[in-house]
Amino acid sequence: MSVHVIWHPSSLRHDPGRGHPESPARIQAILDELRGSQYGDIVEWSEAPAATPEQLQRVHPPDYLERLEAMAGRGGGMVDGDTFLSADSYEAAVRAAGAAAMMVRHALAGQPAFAAVRPPGHHATAEVAMGFCLINNVVVAARSALVDHGLERVLIIDWDVHHGNGTQALVQDDPRIRFISLHQHPLYPGTGRPEERGVGNVFNVPRPPGLPRATYLADLNTAVDEATSGWEPELVLVSAGFDAMAGDPLAGFTLEPLDYATWIHDWKRLGTPLGAVLEGGYVPERIRLAAGEMVRALAA
Ligand SMILES: [Zn+2]
Repeated sequence: MSVHVIWHPSSLRHDPGRGHPESPARIQAILDELRGSQYGDIVEWSEAPAATPEQLQRVHPPDYLERLEAMAGRGGGMVDGDTFLSADSYEAAVRAAGAAAMMVRHALAGQPAFAAVRPPGHHATAEVAMGFCLINNVVVAARSALVDHGLERVLIIDWDVHHGNGTQALVQDDPRIRFISLHQHPLYPGTGRPEERGVGNVFNVPRPPGLPRATYLADLNTAVDEATSGWEPELVLVSAGFDAMAGDPLAGFTLEPLDYATWIHDWKRLGTPLGAVLEGGYVPERIRLAAGEMVRALAA
């Protein structure tokens, strides 16, 4: 089976500034990997469309989107101490959200898909851009699945090492979406305790740094089992940050690239369409390997 990889050149032009860990080099490394000859038979490429205003406004109010667009139009700016826009950042964000929506369409048509785009999205709430995130791509995808495709049960699994606070805030009142997050705790942004349950649809798995890889792998799978017990998802969306690997400068988990393939193989047993959208991960030469392992597992 082939995997649809969706990207857009604007992902390379979103520039948060020299020395910023969420750099264009992250996407470049993943593109370099997936353009390699060993992926020739398993990767199909698409350029991301812009998300429609309707798709965006299901997640963020119009005045929030207008503020971001205006800031980019002025050449960029700072929305908080670590979240910056450049002139092309709004287009990159709208294309990233469009890639996430396109990922849903391909996944539901029977082809696993990976939206290899930035800026990431899982820290963005309805009205607050933060943690390098502007538009919450995975929630744009989930709502597109519900509204555009008529689904009733969507599971989001967030394996980024940081808690997806924005995703949780956006879905915690909607029982049609279940949200699972494995993350280092305590760590930015500080949320993600087990007692944060939403309407019973939120499953947080906070863990300290430095545990054996197998523990993180098993503990996330336990949460997946719990979340899908008696509730069969029609679509699984992965918030695929690769900053839970050993050596990431922002965190202290111990995963290796192959571990992402292990999870994908585990979840394929659910028999549910799968899509993944890039979140964090800050060592380009490591995240290219992790993305490659994930794509090969999606294709298997
Ligand atoms: Zn992260």
